[in-house]
Amino acid sequence: MREPRPNRYRTGWAGDQRAEGVGRELRVAGWVHRRRDHGGLIFIDLRDRTGLLQLVFRPEENPEAHAVAHTLRSEDVISAVGQLVRREEGTVNPGLPTGEVELNVRAVEKLADAETPPFPVDEDGQLDEMLRLRHRYLDLRRERMRRNIELRHEIVAAIRSRLDPLGFLEIETPFLTRSTPEGARDFLVPSRLEPGSFFALPQSPQLFKQLLMVGGLERYYQIVRCFRDEDARADRLPEFTQLDIEMSFVEEDDVLEVAEAVTQAMLAAGGVSIELPLERVPYDEAMLRYGSDRPDRRIGMEIHDLGEVFAGSGFRVFADALASGKAVRGFAARGELTRRRFDELTEQARRLGAGGLVWAVVEEGGWRSPVAKFLSPQEMEAAARAVGAERGDAILIVADTPATTARVLGQLRLELAPAAVEGHDVFWVVDFPMLEWNEDEGRWDALHHPFTAPVGDLDSDPGTWRSRAYDIVWNGNEIGGGSIRINMPEVQERVFDALGIPPEEARERFGFLLDAFRYGAPPHGGIAFGIDRIVALCAGEDSIRDVIAFPKLASGFDPLTGAPAPVDEPQLRELGLRLAAAPGARARGEEAPAPQHPEETGTAERR
Ligand code: ASP
Repeated sequence: MREPRPNRYRTGWAGDQRAEGVGRELRVAGWVHRRRDHGGLIFIDLRDRTGLLQLVFRPEENPEAHAVAHTLRSEDVISAVGQLVRREEGTVNPGLPTGEVELNVRAVEKLADAETPPFPVDEDGQLDEMLRLRHRYLDLRRERMRRNIELRHEIVAAIRSRLDPLGFLEIETPFLTRSTPEGARDFLVPSRLEPGSFFALPQSPQLFKQLLMVGGLERYYQIVRCFRDEDARADRLPEFTQLDIEMSFVEEDDVLEVAEAVTQAMLAAGGVSIELPLERVPYDEAMLRYGSDRPDRRIGMEIHDLGEVFAGSGFRVFADALASGKAVRGFAARGELTRRRFDELTEQARRLGAGGLVWAVVEEGGWRSPVAKFLSPQEMEAAARAVGAERGDAILIVADTPATTARVLGQLRLELAPAAVEGHDVFWVVDFPMLEWNEDEGRWDALHHPFTAPVGDLDSDPGTWRSRAYDIVWNGNEIGGGSIRINMPEVQERVFDALGIPPEEARERFGFLLDAFRYGAPPHGGIAFGIDRIVALCAGEDSIRDVIAFPKLASGFDPLTGAPAPVDEPQLRELGLRLAAAPGARARGEEAPAPQHPEETGTAERR
């Protein structure tokens, strides 16, 4: 870091001192990281953001400074001045960048006292996350957190320096706005000046960025907070940060090229190098081969369609499934699995909605399977060949609807994945269906969002429409997604209609967008990346909370400030609000609650 402007607290950074500077007069400021009393000598590791520097206090040379040092405690804030000297032979610390030098302190000033912190700041151990979040300002002093925050900054800086030369303008869009449909619940903010009316916090800047394109600004980006009031889910936070991008007069190739360049820049800042262009995998292929639209392809164990292998099978389960238009698919699980494990996997397949799971282990000259007697050696051999199973491997097969088969096998594949896989795999998933059937509500939902351009005959069954959407996947995580948008009012209305949104409601909610489209909207498209996830993956952190300075728990609770919290009666009255129920103890922030969800303490799944 550039040298600070010399002032009464410091003339240089602690962590930047090297042997070249030996002999210089130096003043440093920061926190007492650790103190060691060695009989006469006192050593203090002083910490600032740049790192640690050892301070030495010699009782004979500087009795006054030594006396102060004697009273210093961990995390006290000090400023010390002296001469930078080379450490004595045998006391050099090669593990520390400043390990060859130390500051021979002439005078020290205590700037602030510290109470004993509730957890050690100078160690990297497993700590209770509640405790860490409640004292986040102390947690941020820990090296691991400091590194994560620095990394986040570097990734964000890389985004800006990659996009600026491409002509992108960084533009802010409102936080107090109307509902933007990304499929989640809105956070609402009551209006005081118009009691009974509410702002919604944006689930994304989707509509505004489209309006910026109608506004002729051509290329927009924003590193922006988005708000989604979803039920607690591991590693989904109510507020999160996106890199949001939109461009005019573009097709898929244009957006993907920019998105790839910025992905490469972000990952490079995070120490991961990738080659461009990225592969594009059609959605159907991803679902068939991996049972997921964001597969981790590194774990292998590809799923194969076994319809041909079992066509005309004597095994009723397969024969009946195929006869009724269902799918029979399977994959090879490497390594030995116990009978108990097969039972667990079968149970899991059932829980995920499949009728059952067929398994068979390839053995010397035969098969071990509960259904071995129903399957002919020819078909088992053909199945083994199709999935690439070798002796000792197991073949896992599900016969069900294509969607259930994909979902169940996709999950089992992840379940059986090795704990650690090497390398990086970044690619696109393209050619999504436009809509998906919402079983519970009995209607179509947009798979991406309702502003995505559909492909196909709009007079045909909406279930057959495809969309011009694309997702980017990194090691089994969806790190971004976007689409070419609708720019014709008629098409937008047709999509609202397919989604079961009546014209009056569409007008009420999105009238401003439909109006804008009547004044000449350019063809446009864009994408948004999940910054928190990308930084977490670069940092090797399992939880996105570890790369956010002040995160909330998945439940939305903030242990630091105690938010959300009740407000007093006059404030409610001013807003024209009356509570239907008394606020809960938890919201009152009386006691930070014991973690209620496993994700609040544990680390979230990586994939
Ligand atoms: N608004 C979308 C999202 O938040 C991204 C996009 O379509 O550009 O997922």
